[in-house]
Amino acid sequence: MHSIFPKNVVAIHAHPDDTEIFCAGTLKLLADCGYSVTIVTLTPGGMGGINSTEKKTIALRKKEAQKAAELINAGYICLDGRDGYLFDTLKLRLDVLKIIRQKEAGIIITHRPDDYHSDHRATCQIVDASAMLSSLPNVPLKEKPLEVTPLLYHSAPLGLSDPLGRMLDKPHFYVNVGSVMETKMQMLECHQSQIDLMRVMHKMDDFYGEMKKLIRSLGTESGCEFAEAFWQHLGGGYQKNSVLQEALQKFLTSNAEKKSKSIITQKVREIKKIIAKQRMR
Ligand SMILES: [Zn+2]
Repeated sequence: MHSIFPKNVVAIHAHPDDTEIFCAGTLKLLADCGYSVTIVTLTPGGMGGINSTEKKTIALRKKEAQKAAELINAGYICLDGRDGYLFDTLKLRLDVLKIIRQKEAGIIITHRPDDYHSDHRATCQIVDASAMLSSLPNVPLKEKPLEVTPLLYHSAPLGLSDPLGRMLDKPHFYVNVGSVMETKMQMLECHQSQIDLMRVMHKMDDFYGEMKKLIRSLGTESGCEFAEAFWQHLGGGYQKNSVLQEALQKFLTSNAEKKSKSIITQKVREIKKIIAKQRMR
């Protein structure tokens, strides 16, 4: 059946390497089933350098992100917001909106509104606002409005916790990325500059090993070896179609599927009980 949502996915995160950490496996799977993929970062990650100036770090990190995107034939666009000082501005909203329209996004993936990092939260706010405007004709841009507002998805923050360290609600679904783990790791390995930074900033000696652990822990939670986790933005103003879930149906982990089925069965039972009680009155 022809979907009203174009097969174009745009992943918009704050820093180079965010997309690779949070959703590169899912993007690769979408690319393999015919999706055109664009990776956008709102900053070039200029603060993520050790023994390097901001300017040099920016040049290096853009190259690294470009190389990573090429591994899945994705485009890479950097919007040059300042790392660590990301604000929700009119310019950034219009720049993001421009990309959403130019790429005719059907699916957008970004951070959660309650992510642990302030740049990630700012990114989410900008992306949400821009996506919401993408089909409206009065926006002051020459790019044609989209026919339908794209579906918005949120990737899982590190540790699945909010800025205060509280555990988040269960992801809406997990994608088994075991079959594309090699590509995901190759994409991550393009971000060589982050090894030194993680060693100094987080005393993390094995950045890639830690990332792998993280992806494995999401796998363990959902009954497979490696997984990425997502929430769909189901608030007002957005369509509720499960387009990403349907495109990757065979990769949704069986546990997650079983769990959601068992939740539905439980709800149906509860409703039946309520009806039965009402009938008895
Ligand atoms: Zn980040």
